[in-house]
Amino acid sequence: MQDPLADFSPHGFPLSAKELTAYLETHVFPLEALLSAGRHEELAAGIAEVRQDVKARGAWAPMAPRDVGGLGLPLTTQAHLGAILGRSPLGHHAFGAQAPDAANIELLHAFGTPAQKEQYLRGLVAGELRSCFAMTEPGHAGSNPTEMSTIARRDGDGWVLDGSKWFATSAHGADFCVVMAVTNPTGPVYGRASLFIVPCGTPGFRHVRRVSVMGDEGAGYASHSELAFEGCRVSAEHRLGPEGGGFLLAQARLGPGRVHHCMRWVGVAERCYDIMCARLVSRDIGGGKPLASRQLAQAWVAESRVDIDTSRLLVLDAVRQIEAHGTEGARVPIAAIKLHVARALDRVMDRAVQALGALGMTDDTILAYLYRHERAARIYDGPDEVHMTTIARHELRRFGGAK
Ligand SMILES: Cc1cc2nc3c(=O)[nH]c(=O)nc-3n(C[C@H](O)[C@H](O)[C@H](O)COP(=O)(O)OP(=O)(O)OC[C@H]3O[C@@H](n4cnc5c(N)ncnc54)[C@H](O)[C@@H]3O)c2cc1C
Repeated sequence: MQDPLADFSPHGFPLSAKELTAYLETHVFPLEALLSAGRHEELAAGIAEVRQDVKARGAWAPMAPRDVGGLGLPLTTQAHLGAILGRSPLGHHAFGAQAPDAANIELLHAFGTPAQKEQYLRGLVAGELRSCFAMTEPGHAGSNPTEMSTIARRDGDGWVLDGSKWFATSAHGADFCVVMAVTNPTGPVYGRASLFIVPCGTPGFRHVRRVSVMGDEGAGYASHSELAFEGCRVSAEHRLGPEGGGFLLAQARLGPGRVHHCMRWVGVAERCYDIMCARLVSRDIGGGKPLASRQLAQAWVAESRVDIDTSRLLVLDAVRQIEAHGTEGARVPIAAIKLHVARALDRVMDRAVQALGALGMTDDTILAYLYRHERAARIYDGPDEVHMTTIARHELRRFGGAK
């Protein structure tokens, strides 16, 4: 469904919501079968062509700041755009707005030195470089990233990194990695770690494997990797932000990043919903009656519509609060959208699979791919339970605190 509030024209995005939706359907949806089939080289060639075309239309990098070559759209407009691009697992990539590059662009723009911006930021915005973000470690609970084993120790005028990370999205074929490592093991808990930019060709950087996610290891930008840092030396100029500023920077990266994820999930849910509804009206359940004639099936439609619309409105409200109070002041609404939208998406995807029956389990539609890959929405960027805790603790403060 087209959001009547989504109007991009005053902000310099060259396509209307309707035109963008149509563009995805004609140029991007046809490439999705290559993704499900694991035909990664053909997919990369097809996507490269679309990306050139998007650039030629002046629609490239809508989420990136203007002074480094993006369109610099306001966050609300980015949110509306994200919900449309999210209708395809290739949408954000086709328009130069994909995670984790989009969040690394924000990070480098806010905290990078002029030299780092010149070397990494411009190429990232232009789509000439790819990046990843490595914080989570296989040996520690990612939900509590204050505990990690990856160490960066000073070595002359540089730093040497040792440790292992996993689930670094898009690390396969990336040009550089933003790595979180402990620089002061005995310092205050939130001041122990720093961020480093590690070019992926650096000696001691090892791409161990693409982690198979529900039977699919993917490739390139659509994959998640285990990485090893083995005596990996970088110069002092590779530290990103202040020493000990790792958590502060990671938190800053996650605020608008969660808006991007959540609105992308709204788009994923809309796509699943459309596939479900199209099937409900066309599947003959017997006696010439469509599945849509059954009230139990109608309940899937009504519940899904409400799940999607409440998600969209909650995200737009979080954007309003971020704009009014900053990321820190909007911690609760940000936690709320991460919790609500990931769960709503989970429900909508599950109903769609159920509605399609056996067809829903096949790769004949994009549904199974989405189901495999988007279940993780309730886990990454903080699992549900962590966001519930944030919301509950804040609420209980008014009643004396959770203790
Ligand atoms: C597809 C995908 C992409 C990812 N991309 C990246 C990336 O690019 N870079 C990166 O660094 N990491 C990435 N991650 C890792 C992600 O951030 C972690 O998986 C996440 O932080 C959870 O950590 P964990 O997996 O170690 O789970 P654990 O911390 O071991 O937690 C396991 C479960 O315990 C429960 N739990 C945790 N804490 C609490 C609590 N306080 N109270 C109650 N229950 C709790 C939750 O249900 C949770 O799912 C990705 C993960 C996935 C699945």
